[in-house]
Amino acid sequence: MEQAEIGLIGLGVMGANLSLNIAEKGNRIAVFNRTYAATEQFMKDAGELADRIIPCKTIEEFVAAIRPPRPIIIMIKAGDPVDQQMELLKPHLEKNDIMIDAGNANFRDTIRRFDSLKDSGLTFIGMGVSGGEEGARHGPSIMVGGTEESWKRVEPVLTSIAAKFNGEPCVDWLGNDGAGHFVKTIHNGIEYADMQMIAEIYGILRDGLNMSAVEIADVFAKWNKGRLNSYLIEITEKVLRAKDPISGRPMVDMIVDKAGQKGTGKWSAIEAQNMGVPATGIEAAVAARSLSSFKDQREAAEKILGLPASGDHGNVDRDKLIDDLEQALLAGKIGAYAQGFAVMAEASKEFGWSLPMPTIAKIWRAGCIIRSQFLDEITSAFTKDPDVANLIVTPAFADMVKDTDGALRRVISFAALGGMPVPALASALGYFDAYRRGRGTANLIQAQRDFFGAHGFDRTDGADKHHGPWGSGLADF
Ligand code: NDP
Repeated sequence: MEQAEIGLIGLGVMGANLSLNIAEKGNRIAVFNRTYAATEQFMKDAGELADRIIPCKTIEEFVAAIRPPRPIIIMIKAGDPVDQQMELLKPHLEKNDIMIDAGNANFRDTIRRFDSLKDSGLTFIGMGVSGGEEGARHGPSIMVGGTEESWKRVEPVLTSIAAKFNGEPCVDWLGNDGAGHFVKTIHNGIEYADMQMIAEIYGILRDGLNMSAVEIADVFAKWNKGRLNSYLIEITEKVLRAKDPISGRPMVDMIVDKAGQKGTGKWSAIEAQNMGVPATGIEAAVAARSLSSFKDQREAAEKILGLPASGDHGNVDRDKLIDDLEQALLAGKIGAYAQGFAVMAEASKEFGWSLPMPTIAKIWRAGCIIRSQFLDEITSAFTKDPDVANLIVTPAFADMVKDTDGALRRVISFAALGGMPVPALASALGYFDAYRRGRGTANLIQAQRDFFGAHGFDRTDGADKHHGPWGSGLADF
């Protein structure tokens, strides 16, 4: 029998859909699952694509079914199971075979796994896959990290299955070892910030303007035709229109306001902090999800503290505020994306990856959860100036910040006066205002540090005197 071009282990939600996508694009694929019953069910559901799929009962059978050097996608529960699976697979593989972890791995584990195979003749790819079940089935965005040689082996298959934006595949090789999983992590961090800001805007429409879910859906539908056009805005509209079959009320109104999280947002924030790069939008979004989970405490606190008086609500020009909200969301997004790209630029230096910023923006334009028209604008900005210090100082984005930050200020003021929390939007404004101010206030912090800890400071006149006269000469001028 003709050998498969690629193998896949793990026929869960993502693995099954990815396998069907691979087969549908004309590639032969061998599949293996720890529990064989899942493989049998998968083959029953595969329909006519089953002709291109080789179901395998044992690892030996599976390995023999793939053309060497064998690319093997491992799409199983992240963490220890991946290490266990690699150990089981290793004795059956030959020189240049490639183990590909396509789950949501921490990139530090990916670097460790990559290094652990260095002397074995085997290679490792850490592959970030975004787009959920639907993306896996019909075209995900794929972020690849590993050796360039191993990428060449898998490029044709991955290019065939990736989402396409204007015909360009949303997959590329981004660098060595953990580069792909790092970029996927930051993708998810940005996704957290994007979702949080959309939720904050929803909160203002719901609580500040007393609009119903369906009225808010109409607003998002309109925005989705403009500069905010994106998958997240599109699904937000759909979510807001959905009716609960039990109560008949809007589904969104029947959902408990506690957000779950699996860790990638937190990892993004931690890595940004490790490198000393501000990612305040992602941090605010992670913190907001954490705070949302303290439901009991929030309900108790509302009874004790009450909600602030409704501020400006009575006098507000509703249409103008809705226009401002659209601009504010765009401004907030610019802040969060600028920060995410700045974190990747720093990581690129720290881990020696040479991450290609225009390529990253390009492969996020379709297939993934944060796909949007906006990413095409980021692609253009980074293509013109790949080494720019920050997205917000590129000519196109500087203009966008200047055009939208007035609306962001008005929205934040309105929300603050009415007691509506907007931590992610406010973080963007704080970031813009701090980033563009040549003379900030850290001089005072340096003075305080020198006062209590003799930490020293640099002087504005460059003079070689690095401590203040704290013990003497206070306020003598
Ligand atoms: P599922 O829970 O649907 O499937 C889990 C799979 O892992 C099953 O095939 C299961 O096999 C296998 N598995 C679990 N433990 C082991 C083990 N110790 N050894 C071997 N196989 C094991 O998961 P998903 O498909 O949703 O997710 C898979 C990966 O993809 C995860 O890393 C996830 O974070 C990532 N991911 C998920 C996305 C999503 O939207 N769901 C999006 C992007 C990435 P068995 O049938 O024998 O139990």
